[in-house]
Amino acid sequence: MSTNREIHLASRPQGWPTADNFRLVSTEVPTPGPGQLVVRNQFISVDPYMRGRMNDATSYVPPFALDAPLDGGAIGEVVAGEANGITVGDTVLHGLGWREYALLDARAARPVDPTVAPVSAYLGVLGMTGLTAYAGLLEVAAMKPGDTVFVSGAAGAVGSMVGQIAKLRGAGRVVGSAGSKAKVQRLAALGFDAAFDYHDGPVRDALKAAAPDGVDVYFDNVGGEHLEAAIAAMNLHGRAAICGMIAQYNADQPPAAPRNLALVIGKRLTLRGFLVGDHGNLRGQFVTEVAGWLREGKLSYDETVVDGIENAPAAFLGLMRGENLGKMLVRV
Ligand code: NAP
Repeated sequence: MSTNREIHLASRPQGWPTADNFRLVSTEVPTPGPGQLVVRNQFISVDPYMRGRMNDATSYVPPFALDAPLDGGAIGEVVAGEANGITVGDTVLHGLGWREYALLDARAARPVDPTVAPVSAYLGVLGMTGLTAYAGLLEVAAMKPGDTVFVSGAAGAVGSMVGQIAKLRGAGRVVGSAGSKAKVQRLAALGFDAAFDYHDGPVRDALKAAAPDGVDVYFDNVGGEHLEAAIAAMNLHGRAAICGMIAQYNADQPPAAPRNLALVIGKRLTLRGFLVGDHGNLRGQFVTEVAGWLREGKLSYDETVVDGIENAPAAFLGLMRGENLGKMLVRV
């Protein structure tokens, strides 16, 4: 194989992205120099945070460049080069997704054992989204046994882990919200005590019915109306891990909600934003505990797999529209 195909950002989306914002480009498969590896990507991750990087705005990650390949989490097999103890045939996790072949500095590649779990798991349940759930719930929100936990985006990669980890760590009641009847049914199968489709009516009413004794921990993946409803439902000294606000990633106006932030004072609530990258210290403990639960059959994970690098933009757009159950991945 001498041709590599990759996805470039052709233009910056205004509001909702469309297929026209992306371009499929063919290049030569690169040749590694000293200290470099060429990796044939097997799976690439598409993630909500990538939407922010499509804007030309200052953020905690730099914007994607126009007319250049996008990047992001990926896993694949080294097909050329040898450095840092990594050699041809090894499976490595790295940050140059959205392309079939990646030319990497070997120091930017993390070898993983492909016999422990399917390689795709290292982009989800055992990877960035799994660690986000683990760190956000246990460290940021400091969930305690007996707590009532509410998680939005509950059928997604992060949310489905939050709910299950909460149950495994002794939460008293776990409530999830998601965007379809099928997703709500899946949450019941995953062991959530209650779940609702947020399209069915005001989130505030559905949450009140699902958590009549209030919420101690809110894991926010959505923002807006969900955050307002959670603030209304939270008990004294409640803690919220503010992980994401996907309801506003494509909005061109600031969200109207939450309109009840003042409740934070009287209820002595903690609303704490976090980035998974700041919680790498938990990685060892996270992998050991989650891999154990997987082995024992105590934890399940879903993946929605789209085939072909040419379909990566469609996978990303589908993720933003809620077409995924669990982790959205592209199989290259
Ligand atoms: P995901 O939940 O697997 O996929 C995104 C989901 O968001 C969709 O499936 C869709 O599900 C839901 N959604 C889209 N628009 C929505 C809206 N207007 N209202 C409610 N739900 C909506 O994605 P993920 O990778 O697990 O990420 C989940 C959240 O965590 C995102 O906000 C992301 O930015 C954030 N995150 C943060 C960090 C961090 O370090 N802070 C790390 C990873 C992810 P429905 O069908 O249910 O609508």
